[in-house]
Amino acid sequence: MKVLVMGAGVVGVTTAWYLAESGHEVVVLDRQTGPAMETSFANGGQVSPCHAEPWANPNTPAKALQWLGREDAPLIFRLNRWDPALWAWGLRFLRNCTPERAKRNLERTLRIALYSRECLKALRARTGISYDQKSLGILHVYRDPQTFQQACKISALMSQLGLERQIKTPAEAITLEPALQNVGDQLAGAIFTPGDESGDAHLFTRQLAQFCQSKDVSFQFQTRIHGLDYEKGRLLGVATNRGRFRADIFVMALGSFSPHLARHLGLRLPIYPAKGYSATLNVGPTDLAPTVSITDDEHKMVYSRLGNRLRCAGTAELAGWNEHLVESRANALVNRAKALFPRGGNFTEAELWAGLRPVTPDSVPILGKTKIDNLFLNTGHGTLGWTMSCGSGRVLADLISGRPTDIGMDGLGLERF
Ligand SMILES: Cc1cc2nc3c(=O)[nH]c(=O)nc-3n(C[C@H](O)[C@H](O)[C@H](O)COP(=O)(O)OP(=O)(O)OC[C@H]3O[C@@H](n4cnc5c(N)ncnc54)[C@H](O)[C@@H]3O)c2cc1C
Repeated sequence: MKVLVMGAGVVGVTTAWYLAESGHEVVVLDRQTGPAMETSFANGGQVSPCHAEPWANPNTPAKALQWLGREDAPLIFRLNRWDPALWAWGLRFLRNCTPERAKRNLERTLRIALYSRECLKALRARTGISYDQKSLGILHVYRDPQTFQQACKISALMSQLGLERQIKTPAEAITLEPALQNVGDQLAGAIFTPGDESGDAHLFTRQLAQFCQSKDVSFQFQTRIHGLDYEKGRLLGVATNRGRFRADIFVMALGSFSPHLARHLGLRLPIYPAKGYSATLNVGPTDLAPTVSITDDEHKMVYSRLGNRLRCAGTAELAGWNEHLVESRANALVNRAKALFPRGGNFTEAELWAGLRPVTPDSVPILGKTKIDNLFLNTGHGTLGWTMSCGSGRVLADLISGRPTDIGMDGLGLERF
């Protein structure tokens, strides 16, 4: 069958790969000049099922109120901002903050994230793909004893659901990652997930696109989709600045921009962009940068060593479809990184970047069929799109090929909204 994938981010390209492996003829369209040029460009680099706890959980509303008005808060939003899409999304988000829903959403995210991590390992073994990856686990560090205790409870639940995790004392955390020595006396404890990984999502996506091309996948870049041709419950083709493209099956993997095109078909996707920032610094031979990927819970920041670079990423700003890089926020991120790893690398020449996470109100991506017979969704991966990309691409290819999926698909589709 001829399958057209809309979007060449990490999610679109992994989907194209598994479709090509399943024997389909695949075309990928993207408005950029190459793969992974938008949100998949400079993310935190973590392949982290350990972050499956949804943003919407019982602790978030109180924390969000404390953060209101603080420009350096990990989550930035303004109550006086009139944006109907944000308010509609926000109400759904609040409904997901009950203990029962948070637990249900954690299980759904962890289901796809753990599966995805295995798919990534298998893909690596099959192709030999290389993307500055490290399989050294992720160390989550906590300064506040109460937050650490809460995290241990959530992590016990994740452990029941299949995620291997180890509780560490501050001294053990420093033994595991000596670059933390500067903050050793501030730590309350740490949680280590040895099976988690890190790597450069942009490099991975570019390399995988090349493997796709060797399987005759056609990539059409600088191709902006502006319309969808639809008749009698079926999609016929997509309209672009470079003419119309037809196919038998279509997959929408447009990240934060999926709702805009889906609306043409009467599909309402509850995805809102959460802008985040990253800084990437060069690490010299005498620097002391972490090699184990780190999550700093207090500042909601992540650190990944990518070859001789250190990627520092964080913040979430709910301010619409606007990728503008606000220097003061990016600099705040650099300062936090410097406080944690004073000898972490060349901070003065850090490369700054901002991107839009496609976030759903329950933090679970939207995967699978729609009411349009031949349109499938692979979108809304929020904070964990790199982590969940291979598993999401694989299940989409299985669904399209009419094969049973390796994991249950209940609760992952659009019908849950
Ligand atoms: C600061 C930050 C840190 C992050 N850290 C991590 C992390 O450590 N681990 C993790 O798992 N995830 C992380 N994420 C999340 C992850 O990066 C995203 O979930 C993921 O990149 C989403 O991939 P995607 O392919 O869905 O979207 P994108 O990468 O945005 O791809 C969508 C593609 O669609 C194209 N497109 C859009 N509209 C059109 C159109 N009309 N016509 C043609 N093409 C179009 C775009 O050009 C783009 O290439 C982070 C995100 C941010 C912002």
